[in-house]
Amino acid sequence: MKRPLITAEDLQQSPDMVIPVGARLTPLAQDLLRKRGAVVRGRGAMPLARRLLIANWKSYKTVGEACEFARALGERVRPPTALQLVICPPFTALATLGEALRGVAELGAQDLSPHDEGAHTGEVAARHLLDVGCSYALVGHSERRAAGEGDALVATKLERALAAGLRPVLCVGETAEERAAGRAEAVVSTQLGRALANTRPTDLPRVVVAYEPRWAIGKGVTPTSAEIAGILGHVRHSLRQMAPEVAERVSVLYGGSVSPDNAGEILALEDCNGALVGGAALDPVRFSAILAAGS
Ligand code: PEP
Repeated sequence: MKRPLITAEDLQQSPDMVIPVGARLTPLAQDLLRKRGAVVRGRGAMPLARRLLIANWKSYKTVGEACEFARALGERVRPPTALQLVICPPFTALATLGEALRGVAELGAQDLSPHDEGAHTGEVAARHLLDVGCSYALVGHSERRAAGEGDALVATKLERALAAGLRPVLCVGETAEERAAGRAEAVVSTQLGRALANTRPTDLPRVVVAYEPRWAIGKGVTPTSAEIAGILGHVRHSLRQMAPEVAERVSVLYGGSVSPDNAGEILALEDCNGALVGGAALDPVRFSAILAAGS
């Protein structure tokens, strides 16, 4: 059977198109995908995972502070960047920040409702996130899991994000106790399996997986590079078992105390397609230094 040919025009007309398995890409289409942060290997080969640098601002920054960050980041960063930048501010800053970051970074939410819009006081639905320009949404961040969010709720949110056209960033990772008991890989596999149980293989390339050991988040400590490489390889292996034909196209990130000092080594690891950054992403100087380290 003849492999479909994708041109740059096709990609411009449908920026979120899912590239069919086995498709060929014209050189201009490959350039465009590289500019958007995809890794494209070989002539006419299909694109591999997007390289991403995602900022999770948690419950920090007012709208004014977010705009000041956008101004300072814009001065330091020259698009297209080697890693696609994504900023996840508090909900209140999404609309304004999206405008301020246009052309420099994409927008993500830190969470989303498991429901469609309706009588769900306090919930922010996928539809509302799309309305203010979000392309991504974190799902199952450890701080939400610590607040009681279980695998079933995480899976529902992931499905809701995919159905709406958002790219869910699924956070997985073990606690210090689970690690001490030698269960890190098993915990990560279980979380992945439960969250992705109902995900169709054709939707999987829109999912981002962030391995975030819970004991490393906000603590200034990280696993060794060999340990990170081991778990990221394990995530890729699990994805291959779920959907071998698309597993290489899923972006797999590391998160947990990433800083300008350790980013170069972490971002160079095989199977690492980027990072999810909390504390160091609040400062445009440190965040752009992490980008430079991974470029
Ligand atoms: C996070 O909040 O997802 C995170 C990785 O935080 P930090 O970089 O501060 O550890």
